[in-house]
Amino acid sequence: MIRKLNQKSDTFQDPTVQSEMLKQQFQDWLAVHCAYVPDIPIKDLVVFSGPSTFVDFSNITSNQEQKIVRGPQIKKRIMGTFDQYPTCVTNKQTLKLLSQQLMKSHHPKKIDLISSGMVKPGDLLKGVRCPHCGYIPMQRMNRNWKCPSCSQTSPKAYLDAFRDYCLIKGPKITNKQCRDFFFID
Ligand SMILES: [Zn+2]
Repeated sequence: MIRKLNQKSDTFQDPTVQSEMLKQQFQDWLAVHCAYVPDIPIKDLVVFSGPSTFVDFSNITSNQEQKIVRGPQIKKRIMGTFDQYPTCVTNKQTLKLLSQQLMKSHHPKKIDLISSGMVKPGDLLKGVRCPHCGYIPMQRMNRNWKCPSCSQTSPKAYLDAFRDYCLIKGPKITNKQCRDFFFID
């Protein structure tokens, strides 16, 4: 697959091969974790959601073509699978157990943007950002946060800074790192 954007071309793996691989991995996962689930049909599709995406079908097989869907067609394609599989192979109780097992097995990928070199330490703007004017850093004053630029206060402004820190550095912070990031003693 080739993406042409801003006069630049990037090559990616065939997304239909990737979707087949994910389908196989999901089947393997089901066999290991959910032996109680009967053989359920699994359909793999590649969806191009951007309305302006041009898909050139001239050099692909009919198998690949059947797997590629453009955003607006997705509902029609999903509804079509009901006609393809008219018999119910499982029940609500099994589906509930399966969804619980899926949620339990989900491990979000942890990325430390600084250690991985994607963000340089010098690029990081430390401090609590003012929710009223965007100024950074706010100052900690009497159990509150005050903006030196617009003078507004916001006792909960630090929560967004914690969320930002979590996204950049991960879900753990030490006392020292917290003081350093928030400019507090
Ligand atoms: Zn402000």
